[in-house]
Amino acid sequence: SMKKKVCVVGSGNWGSTIAKIIGHNVVKHSGQFESQVSMWVFEEMINGRKLTEIINETHENVKYLPNHKLPENVIAVPDVVEAAKEADILIFVIPHQFITRICEQLVGKIKANAFGLSLIKGFLPVPGGGIELVSHAIQEKLNIPISVLMGANLAPEVADEKFCETTIGAASQEEGNVLREIIQTHYFRVVVVNDVEAVEMCGALKNIVACGAGFVDGLGYGDNTKAAVIRLGLMEMIKFAELFYPGSKLSTFFESCGVADLITTCYGGRNRRVSEAFVKSKKSIAELEKEMLNGQQLQGPATAEEVNFMLKSKGIEDKFPLFTAIHRICLGELAPEQMIDCIRNHPEHM
Ligand code: NAD
Ligand code: 13P
Repeated sequence: SMKKKVCVVGSGNWGSTIAKIIGHNVVKHSGQFESQVSMWVFEEMINGRKLTEIINETHENVKYLPNHKLPENVIAVPDVVEAAKEADILIFVIPHQFITRICEQLVGKIKANAFGLSLIKGFLPVPGGGIELVSHAIQEKLNIPISVLMGANLAPEVADEKFCETTIGAASQEEGNVLREIIQTHYFRVVVVNDVEAVEMCGALKNIVACGAGFVDGLGYGDNTKAAVIRLGLMEMIKFAELFYPGSKLSTFFESCGVADLITTCYGGRNRRVSEAFVKSKKSIAELEKEMLNGQQLQGPATAEEVNFMLKSKGIEDKFPLFTAIHRICLGELAPEQMIDCIRNHPEHM
């Protein structure tokens, strides 16, 4: 048939939320899309039962998005190759730490004319030094065009259908239009732009800044201090784009994926919450992630490390004092109290 089939690759907190939206939208636009949506689930046992079975019987992801019903046309599938096999549109939404392995499994197993949308925030190390965008890695591995979606979208609020905006960086106008149809709702408003790399870079980098905001909260500093961290974080994001993704538009930083996502994650969000607890408890980030997140994954500390790996190898850590300080605090090399000293003489103040 000419109808497009959608597969959601992932089923965490955000993955389940987006599967809920897509499940409803494909039914609403039933002339264009197959009504069944497959959702790849990393299988695990919950009280002796498979998570996929629980989801397919109760239509609830009891571990990663409890108390929200998924539409009945969203089918949980434990094998990623099986889930993606017939799909025309692949929605990638897993913690970036796992994407390389998933892509390796999918090589040669997807439809030739498929295209993708990545909701994944983070970077991947490149052999021989440096880092690359997750969307580029997927594109290269699977040989399909990849658009990205990033925005001020804390999953629990989106799942509650509280109004928000998001940004799609579209690989082409045509793909952007189709993706908007499966994503947009009356409470989740999509703006499509063509600045794909800048959109994705914003989404990845803001998780580093969110850790800085959490340190500010843990230290009991005020809202002015947090605003300074957010602003300097934004300036380092813009500098990062200038240096590594020339051609990025400044206007993209004023979309939901830019300043709005920075604000929401620096006030709500898991990276902020765990980073605050890190200062107060003196436990390691990894310990707190286990204790506080029930299997959900932090992206900020890993992203800080990926970015630092590249900045260090190029000898330009001093151009990014906030990113650098946050990374060293996450590692335990620097006391959180020292973050402000590291940004007191920021290049933006010179
Ligand atoms: P999550 O943090 O809930 O992560 C848990 C998911 O990872 C579960 O589905 C789990 O089954 C899976 N997982 C665990 N071990 C695995 C393994 N070895 N291999 C593969 N999968 C494994 O995930 P999420 O919140 O859906 O986040 C996915 C992406 O979306 C991230 O890049 C995140 O930054 C981004 N994002 C999240 C939110 C949010 O509010 N949660 C909002 C916007 C963007
Ligand atoms: P956290 O992972 O910090 O909760 O951020 C989620 C997010 O990316 C919101 O847009």
